[in-house]
Amino acid sequence: MQQPITTSPTFLAQPSEPATPDDLDCAQNLKDTLEANAEQCVGMASNMIGEHKRIIVFNDELTGRVMTMFNPEIVEKTGPYEAEEGCLSLESTRKTTRFETIRVHYQDKRFKERTANFSGWTAQIIQHEIDHCNGVLI
Ligand SMILES: [Zn+2]
Repeated sequence: MQQPITTSPTFLAQPSEPATPDDLDCAQNLKDTLEANAEQCVGMASNMIGEHKRIIVFNDELTGRVMTMFNPEIVEKTGPYEAEEGCLSLESTRKTTRFETIRVHYQDKRFKERTANFSGWTAQIIQHEIDHCNGVLI
């Protein structure tokens, strides 16, 4: 079910806790909220809908589908570059350093351990959303 977007800087500055299989509903709500905001948003972390859990959803450019990750962690990154990003929870855009290629360790919807490589636009979105999990706003 679609949820309202949190914009409180204090709330968004708190790091999220590890997600568990009890958080599958939260992940579904997050996906529904992303899809409802698809025109202005390409990825979300669950603290943006008021849940401090390490869950992210994003549009995967390769498959054209929404991908959900539980407890994502970047284990390798190469090719730093300067990016300018916006965020549904912010009014302006900000500059930040991102990496061209990243390797991410995460759990899928069945809580199976997975590791995958991403590059370009999709990698940039994932980095932005993992920052949210760590309480970092761009
Ligand atoms: Zn954001």
